Amino acid sequence: MKNKLKNFILDTIFPKFCLGCNIEGEWLCSACKNKIVKVKTQVCPHCGRISQFGRFCSKDKKSYGLSGIIVACYYDEGPIKEIIHNFKYNNILELKNILGELLIDSLEENIEIGKDPLITAVPLHFLRKAQRGFNQSEVLAEVVAENINLQKNFKIIQKKRKTTPQVLTEGKKRLKNLKNSFKINKNIDISKRTIIIVDDVTTTGTTLSECARLLRKAGAKKVWGLVISKG
Ligand SMILES: [Zn+2]
Ligand SMILES: [Zn+2]
Repeated sequence: MKNKLKNFILDTIFPKFCLGCNIEGEWLCSACKNKIVKVKTQVCPHCGRISQFGRFCSKDKKSYGLSGIIVACYYDEGPIKEIIHNFKYNNILELKNILGELLIDSLEENIEIGKDPLITAVPLHFLRKAQRGFNQSEVLAEVVAENINLQKNFKIIQKKRKTTPQVLTEGKKRLKNLKNSFKINKNIDISKRTIIIVDDVTTTGTTLSECARLLRKAGAKKVWGLVISKG
């Protein structure tokens, strides 16, 4: 009852509006939820050919140890962009459940990625995390781990150096921008483990590839990316 009252008061002072169509009531109305298009056919992150589980195809082996990227839904369909943006920059943390659910659906469709995987997230530099208050990818990975009982660890990859956001960096400079910006925590044994790295949006997959390269060097058997969308 206490919670109900609290929610009633909060909803009265801060009414929610659907991020897709602005109708009052909730962050995402059912009509707009239906406009989100889930990815049914995963593709090679590099060349876009159809590929099971979003694996890099044999032609594109320059994946730096990343097996593939599983993408949950299409960036340009429905209000997904708005949801991600408001989650990340306007601190509407409740959106984590909508986004987490999309990741879970997609992961479960591709669950043959290995037995007993360990889930982690692309790290944020601690200053940026302090600024935002949370690491959006970690929050999402947390939702996935809790709902489908996966082992999680967010201390495996650490961000040593603050970098320019990848979206603001031009294609070729992306890898250079990231160089030596991550390190692996040697105190955690990841040898022979399959690791799933969660990120909110991927563009060229450079960040995920760089994390994967280091994880494989530290003994991981396989590394997969899991993202909401490809932007
Ligand atoms: Zn709506
Ligand atoms: Zn390919």
